[in-house]
Amino acid sequence: MSRRTPYLRIAVPTPLRRAFDYLPGELATDGLAPGMRLRVPFGRTTQVGLLLALAAHSDARRPRPVTACIDRRPLLPASLLALLRWASDYYAHPIGEVVFGALPSLLRQGEPAERRGVEHWRLTCRGAMQEPDRLTRAPRQAALLRLLAEHPEGLSASALNERQDNWRPGMRKLAEKDWVQREQRPALLLPESGPSDEAPALNAEQQAALDGLRTGLGRFGVGLLDGVTGSGKTEVYLGLIGEVLARGRQALVLVPEIGLTPQLLDRFRRRFPVPIAVLHSGLSDRERLDAWLAARDGEAAIVIGTRSAVFTPLARPGVIILDEEHDASFKQQEGFRYSARDVAVKRAQLEDVPVLLGSATPSLETLHNARQGRYAHLRLRERAGTARPPELAVLDVRKQPMSSGLSLALRNAMRRHLDASGQVLLFLNRRGYAPTLLCHDCGWVAQCRRCDAHMTLFAGQKRLRCHHCGSERPADPACPDCKSTALSPVGAGTERLEEALREHFPDTARVRIDRDTTRRKGALQALLDSVHSGEARILVGTQMLAKGHHFPEVTLVGLVDVDQGLFSADFRATERMAQLVTQVAGRAGRAERPGQVLIQTHHPDHPLLQLLLREGYAAFAQAALAERRQANLPPFSHLALLRAEAVDGDLPLRFLRHAREQAETLQVRGVQLLGPIPAPMERRAGRVRAQLLLQADRRADLHRLLGPWLQQLETDRLGRRVRWSIDVDPQEMF
Ligand code: ADP
Ligand code: ZN
Ligand code: ZN
Repeated sequence: MSRRTPYLRIAVPTPLRRAFDYLPGELATDGLAPGMRLRVPFGRTTQVGLLLALAAHSDARRPRPVTACIDRRPLLPASLLALLRWASDYYAHPIGEVVFGALPSLLRQGEPAERRGVEHWRLTCRGAMQEPDRLTRAPRQAALLRLLAEHPEGLSASALNERQDNWRPGMRKLAEKDWVQREQRPALLLPESGPSDEAPALNAEQQAALDGLRTGLGRFGVGLLDGVTGSGKTEVYLGLIGEVLARGRQALVLVPEIGLTPQLLDRFRRRFPVPIAVLHSGLSDRERLDAWLAARDGEAAIVIGTRSAVFTPLARPGVIILDEEHDASFKQQEGFRYSARDVAVKRAQLEDVPVLLGSATPSLETLHNARQGRYAHLRLRERAGTARPPELAVLDVRKQPMSSGLSLALRNAMRRHLDASGQVLLFLNRRGYAPTLLCHDCGWVAQCRRCDAHMTLFAGQKRLRCHHCGSERPADPACPDCKSTALSPVGAGTERLEEALREHFPDTARVRIDRDTTRRKGALQALLDSVHSGEARILVGTQMLAKGHHFPEVTLVGLVDVDQGLFSADFRATERMAQLVTQVAGRAGRAERPGQVLIQTHHPDHPLLQLLLREGYAAFAQAALAERRQANLPPFSHLALLRAEAVDGDLPLRFLRHAREQAETLQVRGVQLLGPIPAPMERRAGRVRAQLLLQADRRADLHRLLGPWLQQLETDRLGRRVRWSIDVDPQEMF
């Protein structure tokens, strides 16, 4: 760098919407490159900053010198730094938070970017000779011995954390006896010994999709793999990854939730004898850093992760694959509100590699892009292997006698399938016992004190909980208004459904899978195991069941209530309902046994529901897109939502009105300002909320407004008295 570029433009982790200029101080600018971390004075503290650029000019009044350098080479490749800067602009989110949010926490804290390995424990050969049952007086040690015997390759500290609370004292005792040993190992899944799985012969559609994708390797392009559940999309991913690995490149695979799809990881491992880095929320800080560095340095051939893994640096990127691209979990809903799907597409463009989006129920945005010819549309219309598509039908429950949400017709169908030794899956997207507690004498309902919402009854009707703010209290024994004790639960959640099943099918083993039953470590796996072993015959669950599981013996799927999705104020509600119905239905009859799907509804004639059932998701999506076009809603227009909340009830609307005026004075054409209005749930967690919607036909217009507007709002006096945030391409409108 020349003498004429003495300023260092640095991202610092702060909510301020800009970078900060510093002087190099004692550092030689020749040795500095964007992507390195530096220690910088910030206010009265020292912070870790990341060098974005060297600049010839600065508007800073009195730039201060940096304190020290941390990295000797850039932490991130230039393409990733470019992606982070793009994301900060596009989502109008402070660069410091974007950059530092993408780094493992040890790097945020200024730790060196070095791999140290992670703590593992395994049995010594003496330990392997011991009989755990003889340790009757040390049950925890015995449990650890058994656990390690099941995992001869050893377990990492975080894997142990997941399986046994407070395992360290017992492990120390075992180590003193020389029965176990500690090792430092890379935070990678390393190839297991033994032969790897052979790929099945692909069917014609799979082969055609793979051939198309193969020719696209080596340059940017977006593919949509649109294949019904069980059509073998994962096989196509695996085939493509095989090709990428053969070319000496890395594959980045993004999935909605790793904890819910352990089978997927196993398939990758069994197919490819290569090191795999897995990035998910259960990692320790050290594991995360090691895995991140293994990806960056090219040692991990495959990187699998959830949403935030889209920012994992790669030494030799070859392809990005995003499975279940429609899934809402790819959108971060607080803080830096980004869509990992959209970021993945941008990243692929910057890295000049292809990106593949896969789903049985693609989002309307993605389908629109495919129809416009921007994305290659690859279809798998048939189920792979011998599996047959399920048969869908509605059950009109109007005027039908119901028992805790179950109609007689559904119960009879369940009995038929159980008698024929099938398994039954009941889906209800509402956990707890009942969504409402009502006084039969005066009409009082249990409300949350902090939100405009009903409390959900749970724990066998003993407690009330608000699903919006998490507050809890014992259920009222009598009505606080009229003192009547005639309080009754209204509606049914999964807990109540399970109770009803105990009554109607007393001799049939069942499991319930929702956030409440799977909170404990290892609980989900235990429940899934009892389904796969065939011990449990009925499964009740929420949308956790809709994600990627294979239940080959399930022959009947009952959707207990889809009516919520049909008449919501949110314009995306029907799309979500259709995706959920299709995904849940896809769990049935995946093996040789054909499946049946029954949908209970009070609105059997709802046109979109009818279309979905008669002609399938693609026809539904086409009609839904036509509706969106008519209403000029995304993907036919572009939205941003400015939200504000405060304890003081007047402030949010006042601030947003003021924000609207500010936007108007900027006179950017092509942007409509709608509102402000109170949020659909006006009070939440004790705060009053409001929102201002921005709508534009052209995205560029929206972005031309956002930059200068938010800069103004940041220094606004009223703005400091409320909590506000901007959501570009919002997915939720509350
Ligand atoms: P998807 O990802 O579309 O849900 P999968 O790739 O998981 O589908 O495939 C569903 C099932 O079909 C899996 O058990 C898989 O092993 C099997 N399968 C996929 N492709 C083939 C094929 N070409 N021949 C035989 N079985 C296949
Ligand atoms: Zn009452
Ligand atoms: Zn609440």
